[in-house]
Amino acid sequence: MSRRRQIYEGKAKILYEGPEPGTIIQYFKDDATAFNAQKKGTISGKGVLNNRISEHIFTLLGQIGIPTHFIRRLNMREQLVRQVEIIPVEVVIRNVAAGSISKRLGIEEGTALPRTILEYYYKDDALGDPMITDEHIACFGWASQEEMHDVADMAIRINDFMCGLFAGVGIRLIDFKLEFGRLWDGDYSRVILADEISPDGCRLWDSTTNEKLDKDRFRQDLGGEVEAYQEVARRFGLLPEGSVSTVLDLDEHRKARGKKDS
Ligand code: UDP
Repeated sequence: MSRRRQIYEGKAKILYEGPEPGTIIQYFKDDATAFNAQKKGTISGKGVLNNRISEHIFTLLGQIGIPTHFIRRLNMREQLVRQVEIIPVEVVIRNVAAGSISKRLGIEEGTALPRTILEYYYKDDALGDPMITDEHIACFGWASQEEMHDVADMAIRINDFMCGLFAGVGIRLIDFKLEFGRLWDGDYSRVILADEISPDGCRLWDSTTNEKLDKDRFRQDLGGEVEAYQEVARRFGLLPEGSVSTVLDLDEHRKARGKKDS
């Protein structure tokens, strides 16, 4: 199809060399993985939705002054981004207990946290992305202290903005993951937001029903994965006019499961 050079293939995206030096094309796949890729599947249409949702959020973050790698969306599955050197630290921001924090610390899922928690994980699939602290990051030189200061500062600003953005469309932002990269200019670099922000890396619950509108539907075999992602896009006004809310359908999925399990 195309002669462009593939740089990297990840679990949910493929990166190709961009049209100009310093640019990259991000291709969003339908592949889904969970539990450190022990569970694999396809969510048909997910890539298209994540491309649109991530474009929407990165554009708005750019407008409030967060530096990001996003340049523009190219087509249904691809976006043009700035090439950065990814900092090998995944940043998780938590507002409500769910997932690993509930499991590790025995905090009931859905408990609102009295303050936002920032966590860091070393980005290494072979090691299963272990949790780390600032001390490990400094000790092993994964990022400088100045860089981590900027990362934490941006993560908090992004969280504040995104909580409001999602609340405005009836969604609670439970937690999410961010990745940052170094943008080089000669001998100098600055840290900018990279990767994607989509229901693959966020926990999103309907504000009134607590229905899950994110990858937990896949992780927990709840069904209705693509409908959930579509619902997020629809609420942001990213689907064609007149598209129908799927929240009721999701409720049906839940009921159907309940019957099956009982
Ligand atoms: N997350 C992610 N990629 C990862 C690990 C976590 O995008 O490799 C996201 C996940 O979707 C959730 C948040 O980060 O929104 C917190 O995840 P958690 O630590 O609870 O881990 P998990 O439930 O994936 O084991």
